[in-house]
Amino acid sequence: MKSKSMRFRWMSNLKKWVVNNLCCVLRKKNKKRERCEEMETVGNECGDITAFSSIDLSTMPSADPAPSGQAELKTEMAKLKLEDLHIVTPLGVGGFGRVLLVQDKNNSNETYALKILDKSHILAIGQQKQVLNEKNIMAELKADFIVRLHRTFKDDEHLYMLMEPCLGGELFTLLSEEMNLGDTAAKFYTACIVDAFSFMHSRGIIHRDLKPENVLLDTRGYAKLIDFGMANKVMPGEKSRTRCGTVDYMAPEMVLKQGHDTAVDIWSLGALVFEMLSGSSLFADKDDNDMHTCNNILEGIKDFVFPNEISKIAEDFIRKLCRINPVKRLTAQEIPMHGWFNDFQWEDLRGRTMEPPFVPKVTSSVDASNFDCDSFSEEADYPRNDGVTIWDPDF
Ligand code: AMP
Repeated sequence: MKSKSMRFRWMSNLKKWVVNNLCCVLRKKNKKRERCEEMETVGNECGDITAFSSIDLSTMPSADPAPSGQAELKTEMAKLKLEDLHIVTPLGVGGFGRVLLVQDKNNSNETYALKILDKSHILAIGQQKQVLNEKNIMAELKADFIVRLHRTFKDDEHLYMLMEPCLGGELFTLLSEEMNLGDTAAKFYTACIVDAFSFMHSRGIIHRDLKPENVLLDTRGYAKLIDFGMANKVMPGEKSRTRCGTVDYMAPEMVLKQGHDTAVDIWSLGALVFEMLSGSSLFADKDDNDMHTCNNILEGIKDFVFPNEISKIAEDFIRKLCRINPVKRLTAQEIPMHGWFNDFQWEDLRGRTMEPPFVPKVTSSVDASNFDCDSFSEEADYPRNDGVTIWDPDF
């Protein structure tokens, strides 16, 4: 009798495991497909990269270095001009623009990720303030696990952000390829992100869009945070009110527009850690219905039963990141003290003497094979602003 019930439990667990994993693979495939669709749409909106790649940047109108408030950025790469760069290949598309891999014509070993923003597009979608914000925030963030903004350029039609390239690809790709990353790898990437958050949060900067797509690997396999297009800076005690980010990783106070602070990043981190350890999303509805996802978020994880592959100590960690009450969540400064990190050598991570869990295949400084972004479609015809740049004097 006992063995029959055990066999039944074993069979039902196996069935659950197969169904879960199947759903998870399908979901990842869908997510990847959706992202491609998203990239195509944004590509349509943002412009034709093939047209861009056939244009030598030196034929563009002379682009001036940013005029004000950027002493640090200016000195770092003061001599470099836009016309010194030549386009290697597109890397990706974000909410506000495209990102290209470019190479210094005078030093072929030097490559950069160049984000190009179409000023008319920014104007059309009313994101001028956000773009200036992104630039100012990135200029302030000089930390090991945050992609470095080297400098900015602008001309009549575009704004340019010249960044350090991370050619190891997105954490998203790694998650799409692996069922789950396992404890060691998940801890390594989490630690990189926590270090980045500690630096940002201590300056009142909230990222607000942590997700696997916004974590890139450098050539050694260390993780770096990108995309500060949603980021915001708040004063101590102050709250931000705009609802933004990606619903699967959104904190309840963001969903409810109750006002939020740096604790929203901690919630997103909890969702990401769960995903790295289990291979499935913590809150996303299985049919990708955003309303249902929001309900899952608002319900919280108090009664949620964690899968067996997540250890009790990792479960405790995730629970302490995803507490409904933002005040009760661990802070980025407190996280290293949690038991999940007992066996983790933070100093080795910071000193870069730790062996990363996955070493990406990158054969040269122009190898973009970890990004599957080949081309972009036709350029949309946004009303041009005739070179009158009233909103970007500080870029
Ligand atoms: P973003 O507009 O910042 O969201 O960037 C859009 C996409 O471009 C990202 O999802 C990455 O695939 C790629 N990308 C952005 N920044 C970099 C970078 N520094 N190095 C390599 N690829 C990048």
